[in-house]
Amino acid sequence: MRTLLKVVSISRTSVRSFTPAQGAKGFSVLECRLGYTQKAVGIWAVVLSRHCSTSVEGRTEPSMLRHLTSKITATGPITVAEYMREVLTNPVSGYYVKNDMLGADGDFITSPEISQIFGELVGVWCVSEWMAAGKPKALQLVELGPGRGSLTSDILRVFRQLQSALNGAAVSVHLVEVSPKLSQVQAKCLTGEHTQVCVSDEEVVYRTGTSHTGLPIAWYRRIEDVPKGFSIFLAHEFFDALPIHKFQRTEKGWREVMVDIDPEEPEKLRFVVFPAPTLASTTLIQADEKREHVEVCPEGGVIVQKLANRIVEDGGAALITDYGHDGTKMDTFRGFRGHKLHDVLLAPGTADLTADVDFSYLRRIAGDDVVCLGPITQRTFLKNMGIDTRLQVLLRNCHDASTRAQLIQSYDMLTNPEKMGQRFQFFSLLSRSRLAEPQEEGEGLKRRKKGRAPLPVAGFSELGLQ
Ligand code: SAH
Repeated sequence: MRTLLKVVSISRTSVRSFTPAQGAKGFSVLECRLGYTQKAVGIWAVVLSRHCSTSVEGRTEPSMLRHLTSKITATGPITVAEYMREVLTNPVSGYYVKNDMLGADGDFITSPEISQIFGELVGVWCVSEWMAAGKPKALQLVELGPGRGSLTSDILRVFRQLQSALNGAAVSVHLVEVSPKLSQVQAKCLTGEHTQVCVSDEEVVYRTGTSHTGLPIAWYRRIEDVPKGFSIFLAHEFFDALPIHKFQRTEKGWREVMVDIDPEEPEKLRFVVFPAPTLASTTLIQADEKREHVEVCPEGGVIVQKLANRIVEDGGAALITDYGHDGTKMDTFRGFRGHKLHDVLLAPGTADLTADVDFSYLRRIAGDDVVCLGPITQRTFLKNMGIDTRLQVLLRNCHDASTRAQLIQSYDMLTNPEKMGQRFQFFSLLSRSRLAEPQEEGEGLKRRKKGRAPLPVAGFSELGLQ
């Protein structure tokens, strides 16, 4: 979900100093708006790779609604995941593919767009994790779904300020982005448009450039194309944009919720409950599930598994930040348009679609080879990272009354429990060795000197491990 409140953004240069088809038999219509295993993820990785290769290139694309109704007429109701995937990332007319939807003039606003302090503190987190890992020679900053590029831009400013601490490490930036439109916006923000674009769709790196601070940047469509190596992965409001399946408990067991054409109004869509089990309903629900309605994001599971594998093999950490819950919420699928809630089935392709991230699911899929911290609230994380001190420094250096007011307003927006402070969550994956207590002599950790206790994890430092 995104925040509805409109926030004035602050110029980052002004305060720079940094210390069934309808009627089909057996379908039940959902009247109201709806209130795992490693193996399952493996199955879903295969299913998804097939889905992702489906494209509608080479034709003049009808409107998204037309495209969806043709599809449903031809093959029957589609899963909510397929609906979401088509609406958001269809290669021709997907919402993310065509639009720059972020900011006050768009459909929603996110923390990095609200205040530069957010990205600065995440930048400090990245440096701190790099140091805790023993200062590897190369550091890859990898952002999934970078939006307008603001988070990475603020982080790179911190990296420049902390150049001496970074100690000559070879830093490179890797952006995973499906949207050609947004990759252009990112290129402008990060490089001033000095990028090279690859013409061939076959190339895994589709754009390259050099940041304002002189670092190499590369753009990819998929995380698996990012080179191996010690990496700090960031996913800010990325997982909530990935397709979810929805399931309803019924007298006959779990059934999948699908999207169908409304028989009364063929130009409208509606939710129905599939009468028989589906592959998803038989593989994605936990045996001891207590809720009446469940949302599962297998694509998120596949990505988190890839993150975990890379962290185990190459070292590094991931910071996943999103609206979410710990396996307790039921119906969180929502649409946003013009900073207002929007019916998810109405005018598909004109509004953002989002579902809260189930961190308990991500933790389960990440497995035991990594350590998961959180979720903790944005307020706790930012306070632990020193947002109060940073605000004071910025205020001290800023004499313009309106900029001062904006700084205070955006601080409130990020940390106030009634605004984003409570509901926005931080979750981290770390390698086990990062937090292991030193063992017997000789069994020391690869990069840490024998006998030295692990450094606390910035932002999460007051937490126990899970
Ligand atoms: N992180 C930014 C933008 C969030 S919007 C911020 O917080 O401001 C979601 C972002 O993820 C967009 O950049 C969108 O284009 C991208 N995205 C959505 N689905 C994706 C996918 N399957 N693979 C890669 N990027 C995706």
